[in-house]
Amino acid sequence: MIAKRIAALTPYVAGEQPAGGYIKLNTNENPYPPSPSVAEALRVFDTEKLRLYPDPDSKALTAEIAAYEGVRAENIFLGNGSDEVLAFGFCALFEKQVAFADVTYSFYPVYCDLYGFKKIILPLNPDFTVDSSAYKKTACGGIVIANPNAPVSLSMDEQEIIQLAKSVSCNVLIDEAYIDFARNTKSLASVAPQFKNLLIVKTFSKSYSLAGLRCGYAVGNAELIEGLNRVKNCFNSYTLGALCQTAALAAVRDRAYFNQTVQKILSTRQHTADALQKAGHTVITSDANFLFVRHSSVSGAEAYARLKQQNILVRHFAAPRTAAYIRVTVGTDAEMDAFTNAFLKF
Ligand SMILES: *Cc1c(COP(=O)(O)O)cnc(C)c1O
Repeated sequence: MIAKRIAALTPYVAGEQPAGGYIKLNTNENPYPPSPSVAEALRVFDTEKLRLYPDPDSKALTAEIAAYEGVRAENIFLGNGSDEVLAFGFCALFEKQVAFADVTYSFYPVYCDLYGFKKIILPLNPDFTVDSSAYKKTACGGIVIANPNAPVSLSMDEQEIIQLAKSVSCNVLIDEAYIDFARNTKSLASVAPQFKNLLIVKTFSKSYSLAGLRCGYAVGNAELIEGLNRVKNCFNSYTLGALCQTAALAAVRDRAYFNQTVQKILSTRQHTADALQKAGHTVITSDANFLFVRHSSVSGAEAYARLKQQNILVRHFAAPRTAAYIRVTVGTDAEMDAFTNAFLKF
């Protein structure tokens, strides 16, 4: 028998991972392989090391990420994917009630239910931008904002987030899973340690092409990071395996490859958005590695189904405000041409 409080939960449902044969534009994975230095680091990895537990503090990886972000090691927390970092962040930093948007990452309500927090759902503006004044007016137990936001692909100016964090008493968690694809918005990771209540969460799954590795991290002041470590060490001391630490370290060090693949995605994103808009369809201006698209005559559910028939997998969110749209991950140029050709024929 499952405990009552767990039986009552509705868990998060991840995008489909079909066996093959699809052009897969449904889970915001990167279409390019990870840096070749990741393959090399794994090739030379001494499997004898797997006999021992890994470094529970991932010291080498922490130091490399701290240097990259321009912060100290005490400002970094690593986890098994940023979903785990978010789960620990909710547990360590939030109390009683948590505010987030009506259209955002659908894991946030799941964590709230798991921890028994009341959900304060603050609608996005009609144009899908975040109304930060609504957060300032709400009784504060925790605030979580995806910036850029999923699935709408828009971002909020980073100065507006700083103003928000300064004006509230609770902790503000900013999920920057897509920040590396933003046009003008900057990551707040480097400045987060200066604030007592601002935690930035990032992932290797999207811009580093390492969704299968499961690695994410948080940047914040040492006290917040200590909170995350307390939760982690109440669950599992070894959330990052030795192979994960090794591969992620190689990926962070290869800045040239990272910049090159991100640039390719930005150029494919622009090219695809232009083609769809020229044909009269609505495309939200994207700061992420996906496009939020509305066909001029076909519903989101219909577009999803017709694309799937042609072995092109995208994501559809059936809620009232998102039902007209589909979310399309930016793949390679060839994949996006296939998508565009199919979509424009509807
Ligand atoms: C993809 C995504 C994540 C995280 O993923 P992990 O693979 O667990 O690092 C977190 N937040 C948002 C908004 C995402 O879209």
